[in-house]
Amino acid sequence: MRERLDRGKRRLLLKEDQTWIGRPFEMDTKLRGVQANTRHLALMLRDSHIKHRASRAAAFAAKLLDGTLAKKTQGPVACAKGCYYCCKTYVSVTIPEILHLARAVRGQADKTARVIAAADQSKLIAQDQREKMRIVCPILADNVCSEYIPRPLVCRAVLSKSLDACLRIFEHNSGEMVPFADGTVDIRAYVVVMMQAALKLSGLSHVHFEMNQALAVALNHPDAEERWLSGEPLFAEVPVDTADLRPSGLSAMMDALIENVAPTL
Ligand code: SF4
Repeated sequence: MRERLDRGKRRLLLKEDQTWIGRPFEMDTKLRGVQANTRHLALMLRDSHIKHRASRAAAFAAKLLDGTLAKKTQGPVACAKGCYYCCKTYVSVTIPEILHLARAVRGQADKTARVIAAADQSKLIAQDQREKMRIVCPILADNVCSEYIPRPLVCRAVLSKSLDACLRIFEHNSGEMVPFADGTVDIRAYVVVMMQAALKLSGLSHVHFEMNQALAVALNHPDAEERWLSGEPLFAEVPVDTADLRPSGLSAMMDALIENVAPTL
């Protein structure tokens, strides 16, 4: 690990970061846009004066993803309001995304009951089976996402080039890959890696969980965010997304980003 930058250099870096924070970024962990946004997220998550800093970090990451997708996604996208075929599959989320969503759902009795029922159903199914099963997301209402603004990162980035392919995949389990619009997979991967690196740099859990079960836990605890931020293992019973348990290109990217950003905090 490199030595920490001195205070003057850190201050200068933070000033320069303003050019990149919250703006569409270029995809390279060595580039300043990715580093500046990761640093911004880590500093937010470390700031104990911000009560809802986890939800706020999720909202920031969502906006960054939306802005970069809007600027850099190429080619036609078949997704449209009322199309919900992908809203029946396994949804993988970090805890800040869950806490952000829970803040919106809390107080809505019908929706909370749907989440708890979906969590009970999801609990009984292993991840590899769940990925093939079609359980309608409890947040879906009248064929649209009823929490469009705080929806998870993965939901924002599933932009398909073909409705026919989605029908085959999500209605008939064809086993094909979603024909994602050009650029979307990498853009989402970078935002996820930025969020995970910032969580790790803040001493918080950076792994993903199955959405229904994690959301049910958050809704069952009105003070879930404060308790999780204070180090309570509130989500310990929720199974971790198995993809996070294996070394991958994404974990290598996260480590490289942490190596670059850690000395600047
Ligand atoms: S949160 Fe919204 S977009 Fe995501 S799966 Fe559920 S209904 Fe669909």
